[in-house]
Amino acid sequence: MIYFDNASTTKINAQVLRTYKKVLETYFANPSGTHTLARDVARLQDKARSEILDTLKYTDGKVIFTSGATEANNLAIIGLYQAYANRGNEIIISNFEHPSVREACDYLAKVHGVVINKVPIDANGVIDLKTLKKFLSDKTVLVSIMAVNNEIGAITNLSAIRKVLNGYPKVIFHSDVTQALGKILVNLDVVDAFSFSAHKIHGLKGSGALVLRRKLNPKPLVYGGSQEDGLRPGTHNAPANIVLAQTVRLAVMSQQENIELVGKLAQKLHTLLATRSDLFIINSTLDNPYIVNFSLKTVSASIVLNALENKEIYLGTTSSCSAKLHIPSHTILAISGDEKRANNALRVSFSATNTVDEVITFFKVLMQIIEGANYG
Ligand code: PMP
Repeated sequence: MIYFDNASTTKINAQVLRTYKKVLETYFANPSGTHTLARDVARLQDKARSEILDTLKYTDGKVIFTSGATEANNLAIIGLYQAYANRGNEIIISNFEHPSVREACDYLAKVHGVVINKVPIDANGVIDLKTLKKFLSDKTVLVSIMAVNNEIGAITNLSAIRKVLNGYPKVIFHSDVTQALGKILVNLDVVDAFSFSAHKIHGLKGSGALVLRRKLNPKPLVYGGSQEDGLRPGTHNAPANIVLAQTVRLAVMSQQENIELVGKLAQKLHTLLATRSDLFIINSTLDNPYIVNFSLKTVSASIVLNALENKEIYLGTTSSCSAKLHIPSHTILAISGDEKRANNALRVSFSATNTVDEVITFFKVLMQIIEGANYG
């Protein structure tokens, strides 16, 4: 089996799983309770918050535990907008955000009449700073731009965006760092809020966080309790929250070593794909080796995906959140405007557990499938 769908989700780290089991069995009390057992869990959970902030060197921050990045993004977009709507009615995002950002904005536009400005990206997935500048106004409440795109892996220069925002001290700058954290060097210090998810970095499914500057107070999306300062009511998933700190620490600790390893895999795959420019268009660059995205010129992506699966090779087409909808890749459309290219994109996403041999096998099988389909 070859698993190349790590941008969708990763296999759990054995150390994290061990800690999780132990915490789940030992610290089962509800951290909102008042007895000693409950207070022990609350203490561990709060320790996890400060560990996350320490690991990420995000001083002056606070951690709101969530079920993952989708919820964190919704809380950031809708919750922050609603809390600071007195500042204006405009939000700026990029043209290739994850659906959890885009559709939270669609909701605000539809229900609250918020104006959503989308900054275009160029052929390499780079944000057009001039347009960003043009969109900024006294009515802008929030700017949300992802650190790494989940489909093509393009890296955003968050510091450059912060510079553009410097003339607008009231604008809140949020970034979805789900595909960046623990993988790519990212300057979190320049953002006011960021979202991430544990399962992209070998942690638990259904676990993640929104991290914010302490002074920011979004409005809740759900009601009915005082947990997470009333922002996320409901009994805490304390064991998941506690091991999130370990998940982040392990990912950040091995970030440099992993990127060097994954870099070799991406380099190999790019080289192999480049030998057949009659068959492939490469949609990503080597700046981020975790994601290699390419479009098939002669065969449909869904046929190739099925054939790969028959050989126990697993990868994705577009973001898993949209894959089942069978819609063309939003990002490839944004970088190219080419619907066929967007329909026929394949995403290979690596983790440090993959090997160069797997890349070679994958390419060999891919060529057999394409040649079979072209001449068969
Ligand atoms: N943002 C990005 C960039 C993602 O890649 C994903 C996962 N597809 C999400 C948000 C959603 O994360 P989760 O699965 O934790 O809700």
